[in-house]
Amino acid sequence: MARVGGAIHRQQGTGWRGPRKATRPWPAQARYPAREHGGRQQVQKASATMGSAQNVTGATGGADSLVAELRDARARVESLEKSERLQQALYEIADLAGSDLEMDEMLQRLHSVVAGLMYAENFYIVLFDDVRDSYRFLYFADRLDPYVAEPEQEIFAEETPTSLTLALLHHGEPVLGSSDKVRAQLSVGHDDRHGPDSEDWLGVPMRRDDRVCGAIVVQSYDRPDSYGDEERALLAFVAQHILTALDRHQAREELERRVEERTQALQQSNRDLQSEIVERQRAERLQRALFRIAELSITSDTLERFYAQVHDVVGELLYARNFYIALLSEDGERLEFPYSIDERDAARVTRRLGAGMTEYVISSGRPVLADRQRIAELEAQGHWRSHGSLSHCWLGVPLFRNDAVVGVIAVQSYSNAINFSARDQDLLTFVAHHIGIGLARKQGQDRLIAAHVELEQRVESRTRELAMANAELLEQIGERLRAEQKLTHQARHDALTGLPNRSQLLDRLGTAISNARTSARHSSMGETPRVFAVLFLDLDRFKLVNDSVGHSAGDDLLVEAGRRIVATVHDGDTVARLGGDEFAILIEDIDGLHAAEELAQRILNALGQPCWVAGREVFPSASLGIALWHPRYHTGAELLRDADAAMYRAKASGRDRCAVFDEAMREQALQILDLEADLRRAINGDSFIAHYQPIVRLGDNAVIGHEALLRWRHHARGLLSPGEFIGVGEDNGLIEEVDWLMYAQVISRLSVDGTGYISINVSPRHFRTDDFADRLLRLIDAAGADPNRLRIEITEVALLDDVPRALRTLETLRGHGVLAQLDDFGTGYSALSYLHRFPIECLKIDRSFVAGLTGDSKNESIAVVRAIQALAGALGIYTIGEGIETDEQRALLRELGCDYGQGYLLGRPAEQMASTIAPSVNR
Ligand code: C2E
Ligand code: MG
Ligand code: MG
Repeated sequence: MARVGGAIHRQQGTGWRGPRKATRPWPAQARYPAREHGGRQQVQKASATMGSAQNVTGATGGADSLVAELRDARARVESLEKSERLQQALYEIADLAGSDLEMDEMLQRLHSVVAGLMYAENFYIVLFDDVRDSYRFLYFADRLDPYVAEPEQEIFAEETPTSLTLALLHHGEPVLGSSDKVRAQLSVGHDDRHGPDSEDWLGVPMRRDDRVCGAIVVQSYDRPDSYGDEERALLAFVAQHILTALDRHQAREELERRVEERTQALQQSNRDLQSEIVERQRAERLQRALFRIAELSITSDTLERFYAQVHDVVGELLYARNFYIALLSEDGERLEFPYSIDERDAARVTRRLGAGMTEYVISSGRPVLADRQRIAELEAQGHWRSHGSLSHCWLGVPLFRNDAVVGVIAVQSYSNAINFSARDQDLLTFVAHHIGIGLARKQGQDRLIAAHVELEQRVESRTRELAMANAELLEQIGERLRAEQKLTHQARHDALTGLPNRSQLLDRLGTAISNARTSARHSSMGETPRVFAVLFLDLDRFKLVNDSVGHSAGDDLLVEAGRRIVATVHDGDTVARLGGDEFAILIEDIDGLHAAEELAQRILNALGQPCWVAGREVFPSASLGIALWHPRYHTGAELLRDADAAMYRAKASGRDRCAVFDEAMREQALQILDLEADLRRAINGDSFIAHYQPIVRLGDNAVIGHEALLRWRHHARGLLSPGEFIGVGEDNGLIEEVDWLMYAQVISRLSVDGTGYISINVSPRHFRTDDFADRLLRLIDAAGADPNRLRIEITEVALLDDVPRALRTLETLRGHGVLAQLDDFGTGYSALSYLHRFPIECLKIDRSFVAGLTGDSKNESIAVVRAIQALAGALGIYTIGEGIETDEQRALLRELGCDYGQGYLLGRPAEQMASTIAPSVNR
């Protein structure tokens, strides 16, 4: 409603007499004092009444005074009544001032009070601001004017220049009279627009500290004398009280208003404080939550646990009964739900990115808060398709890492009692930001841990592999070591008896020598020197056992012999098997030679005990040579050699005994060494020559052939016979080379000389090679000689070493015309059982039997020769008697059936062959 001047001016053109309430912000009376009405009329009425009473009293004369008195009395009564009414009115006004009544109510009551004092049907109260020159209608009641007072509307003076009310306020004194009179008095022009004038108009200003602050106006539209001086005075008086009452009321209202304001301000500040407290608590909770999330990202042992704990934290901040975390897969094509707790949907499985609400949050990168209706709307708009149970309210916020959306955190409610607010959204967004950071940190940490774990696993598996490889290697090393040990053992032990072999014995001898040398040095300082001895042992006739009962039995005998020797010696002594039937014993720490001899004797005794081999009782024996340590020895081989030499001495002395290597033997040994050296040198020259001894038919002394006998023209010792060097040659193998020199000489001689045969002596060594026969035949062939004129002489030993090979060799030679004679027959083992298998031309009866034919053991020799003759007869071969020196021998041999002979009696070996040849025996 327009109450200010601007509105009035606008309305002036269209006529502002229209609907007053709507178009005019002030009452017509403000400008157009209405017709006066009221008090004066009533006073006149009362005076009229009193005048008629006066007339009654005057008519009676004396009654006049009575009437006068009555009049006075009435006047007094009236005056008293007036005073009383005024009094009453003032009381009421005072009461009203102190009452709790609302202003409107109070003003109405004031109106009633005034109406009790005078005619006041048309009554209004106006307040004036002389500084602003404006006024407001506080109260307005009018019979004709329906205006309703609007105390708040301020009307400025310039808006209503023709207003009587304004004129009254400016005038500052009570004004009474008709509208015309008042206008004239206050110099206000008439204005038609102001409507009908009042017949009587009474306006009384209200003053505060001599300044006009308002006015009260009563008016009457129909009676010109409604108000007089009395009413003017009365109204002025009442006006002052009304002002006081208004002031008081206003003051109270002001107070109340201020109290109310203050209360409201206090309440507001209380509310502010409360909300601040709530806000702070929330902020604190949030802060705490963020701290916890940050802490969890470090302390949670697994990501699953981190998610669960984050859920707890979120649950403290908002409703999170249903909560899940969705993450984009590495390739960004699937949605994974590493964590989901939901009262409806038990599990969320990884899915390809689709049109879900979660995907919507991811693609939009913004939080989404949606209730059932909004969910439906967005679904209808095709933004998403809701998965799982339909939630009542759904809140999802994106999870960021480096400004990229990597997932979503969502909470939802299935109850219409629970809704999420924008605040929850902010909260979850805020938390999500930190969860994103925490998640990144946690994932980083987990990746680091996983990398560590993987590294550890790799290290562990590598370590395991290495350990296994190591174990395998160790096993291999162990195997190799065992193999090595076995090999070493084999290399250092004899396979048959398990005893140390030659190599080990030589090592121990080396150690013994060095110990002995050290001890010898110490002995020069008074200590008894430590001595040791080497015993060389060879079983007697072992070959006989081997050949007669077999190699296996021979092995048994060797093992038994080794056992017996070991049992006899001391623990620290070394018993070694050197090969064949040869053993050697190293005896350490002995007092001297006698101790070695005693032990040798004990060994011989032990070996001499009978034993059972292959079901036969055997009485083994051995020959033993002893070499005692001497500083001249430098190697174990030297000691062994000397012990061996001593052993040969023992054997030569008749077996089953021991011999000590002494100075004579040493001398001999030295000679042998010298001889050996000479022999080597001789091979390179032409020192070897053949002497030929005739073989004669005893019946007519006809020479049927010659035996070629080796002679060495030694540069110092003259012509040497085989007996003086052949042993050395046999031992070191040089004899083979010497033989071939001989054979070449003989065969070349054969091609030019004589007609009978020449027999050559063949060392058993040649029968240990495969090409002897071929080489010999090549030699014959090369010389252009007749193989039929060549014979070979071999001993039984050559035959029995390797029977098949010997057979092959003999067969080959015989195939080419070279026949074989068995030399020195009767001295060997005479393995008669084999003899028939060999292609033998004849048996040469050993010289010892021929010599024996004339000696003490004549009968024995005759028996042997007779046996040999019988054997030869059985084999269908002839015999040659060797070493015939006497006619008696010659005769006896002939008697015994031996047709051929050789010996000094028949012809000595000489460079030239005998000339007389009996052609008949050349076969
Ligand atoms: P053997 O084959 O039995 O030769 C016969 C030996 O008896 C020869 O000795 C010969 O001189 C000797 N002798 C011959 N008649 C008599 C006699 O009436 N009285 C005595 N006391 N002795 C007689 P030699 O030449 O000293 O040869 C000894 C052995 O050396 C030979 O015995 C033979 O086994 C071997 N021998 C000889 N020459 C060679 C040869 O070229 N090569 C090989 N490997 N051994 C040979
Ligand atoms: Mg011979
Ligand atoms: Mg002979």
